Amino acid sequence: MGRMSVSQTVRATDWLGACRRAAQAIRARLDAPQTRSQRLAETGTIGGGGDRTLVLDADAEEIVFGELERLHAEGRAFVAVSEERGEVAFGADPAAPHVRVVIDPIDGSLNAKRGLPHHALSIAVADGPTMADVAFGYVYDFGPGEEWSAWRGEGAFLNGERLREQPVERRGADGRLEMLAVESADPRHLDRAGDMADIARRLRVLGAIAVSLCQVAAGRVDAMASLWRCRAVDAAAAQLIVREAGGLVAFPAFDDPLGAPLDLEPHSPVIAALSEEALAQLAVVPVPLASP
Ligand SMILES: [Mg+2]
Repeated sequence: MGRMSVSQTVRATDWLGACRRAAQAIRARLDAPQTRSQRLAETGTIGGGGDRTLVLDADAEEIVFGELERLHAEGRAFVAVSEERGEVAFGADPAAPHVRVVIDPIDGSLNAKRGLPHHALSIAVADGPTMADVAFGYVYDFGPGEEWSAWRGEGAFLNGERLREQPVERRGADGRLEMLAVESADPRHLDRAGDMADIARRLRVLGAIAVSLCQVAAGRVDAMASLWRCRAVDAAAAQLIVREAGGLVAFPAFDDPLGAPLDLEPHSPVIAALSEEALAQLAVVPVPLASP
């Protein structure tokens, strides 16, 4: 592996296979009868991303790390950035250029905990430090059992089928978007949804940032906006899936729309749309931005 560039190393690895094995194992864990009665259990710790860690999150992360250990044993080197464990080096020097694997073992943990449908495994693989460098994205939504994936430059896939049709933006007679997905963990942020009344006719809140973004990729909603700063683990994989499907994504706290770093800090809201016009409309909604 020593002579391979970072991007060659990304390409030479069966990330899709590893993600599929992890998703299958997590789904089996979620479906196990004993899990149903233990969904509400917390481990008593706070994850690297700052949320309370559920037993489910910790178990799902352990499954993903099992796959990463297998890849590392096969000679791959990378740095994992994961919601609960933080940054973990698998034979790569974090100070030198390296492959980054950005993981949310369960995006929408609270949905999983309470038995609501949308909660997803999200894994992104990048050959550089920002959203623009994500080369592979994988989101498995355990509710409907939908698998979303994309390789940079090769289009987006739903359940293994290429999304061939450019998703079409729908607007009402008054020019507003027909449907906007918003994400926020905190009801106080919903104040900001009011600012979107001029942009969209209807809102949907699914409760998982990665899943909401994927709906834009398939044209099921016209746009998506997180009402607060999101973390890379939530958005890194799905933002590539949206872009490879023909949609547009921005992290408006950054001058470079895809300049958000692949770390554990919540830096910027994420917005996604199917036209430059809608993306520009969402970008001006006054969400308080942390300085990058
Ligand atoms: Mg999570």
